[in-house]
Amino acid sequence: MNRTSDVIVIGGGVIGCAIGYELARRGARVLIIEMRQAGLGATQASAGMLAPYIEGRAGGALLQLAARSLAIYDEFVPQVSADSGVEIEYLRPGTLQVATDEQAASALSEEASRLVATGVAARFVGPPELAETEPLLAPDIVGGLLVPSHGYVRAGAMTSALEAALVRHGARFEIGRVLEVVRGGGCLRVKMEAAHFDARTVVLAAGSWSGRVQIENVAAVPVRPVRGQLVQLESPAPLLRHVIWGPDCYLVPWADGTLLVGATSEDAGFDERATAAGVRDLLEAVCELVPHAWQAGFTGVRVGLRPATPDELPIVGASARLPGLVYATGHYRNGILLAPLTARLVAALILEEHADPVPELSPQRFGEL
Ligand SMILES: Cc1cc2nc3c(=O)[nH]c(=O)nc-3n(C[C@H](O)[C@H](O)[C@H](O)COP(=O)(O)OP(=O)(O)OC[C@H]3O[C@@H](n4cnc5c(N)ncnc54)[C@H](O)[C@@H]3O)c2cc1C
Repeated sequence: MNRTSDVIVIGGGVIGCAIGYELARRGARVLIIEMRQAGLGATQASAGMLAPYIEGRAGGALLQLAARSLAIYDEFVPQVSADSGVEIEYLRPGTLQVATDEQAASALSEEASRLVATGVAARFVGPPELAETEPLLAPDIVGGLLVPSHGYVRAGAMTSALEAALVRHGARFEIGRVLEVVRGGGCLRVKMEAAHFDARTVVLAAGSWSGRVQIENVAAVPVRPVRGQLVQLESPAPLLRHVIWGPDCYLVPWADGTLLVGATSEDAGFDERATAAGVRDLLEAVCELVPHAWQAGFTGVRVGLRPATPDELPIVGASARLPGLVYATGHYRNGILLAPLTARLVAALILEEHADPVPELSPQRFGEL
């Protein structure tokens, strides 16, 4: 086997696969090293929600990056689908963030005005219209903020498509755990237990496990796991028309009647087990918002470890300590949303002289990386 590539990507989650795809599509020889199977980390648990104006409400870099990435989605999904031959369910039905008391409703109404003032289509939906907009919502819901540009993608389908597209573009996958990255004769050497591979550039995209990969003479990247549990229900037809964001859970209705109910947020180290408490809390929360959900079938629970950084922004950029090493990790709650933009930023950094660095994502904000 050829042990030398242009780029080695460590980690086959949505971030590693999207970066590998963008590089391979543009002619680079790419090897992805994944310790389990592509997409089985945080990515498989994701709700695939694409909602910058909820997730990035605090403003700042996350909002800008998330909106930028969402704008790429309309082009990204058809391209990956065409390159792979895999269909990807990607819809933009809008989000409806709901309020259960007057005070919360008035905050949502103000938020609608604020969004409109910044050029984002949004509106507050009050009681008579609310029942027509989402007929199965609980009667005690007093209003909602509708953002029509928001949507979702089925993250599993997108990762499978990326994997197939990668292979079609000549990329290779190697299954095994990367232990260490070291310098080695004009390139970087990626060491596994019983093998090693060389490349000019190595991208560290190992999600929550990124800090566990040893990098020669460089401190561990500060990423910690935040466990998320998500339950999956099914009914013969979709219960909802929009993605719903409630006070204690969010709901993503797929076209086939599947309803995703997310998500817990727990400090549980690297424990990827589901818990009775997590499932109970999510089931109670969904049935409070949509009483019909008590009748839905229960088809499973998924668990993932969101990769969180100290400031909750991703780390994307070149190492200042080890030439050839690039970080692409720490996407926390928004890795699916941010994948297309991250792939473009990293591909530009590696393949073009005029890269588009985003200072807020610089690895060096956390010291000597
Ligand atoms: C319950 C839940 C709901 C979510 N909902 C949303 C959402 O609605 N929208 C959104 O945008 N985001 C959402 N997220 C966040 C999103 O899933 C993550 O940000 C994203 O999946 C991170 O992708 P990643 O590729 O960085 O990490 P991962 O998917 O975890 O991939 C990292 C990969 O690296 C591999 N790896 C690790 N160490 C090594 C090693 N040493 N050698 C080789 N391989 C290694 C792992 O096996 C893994 O496959 C959610 C997450 C959870 C848990």
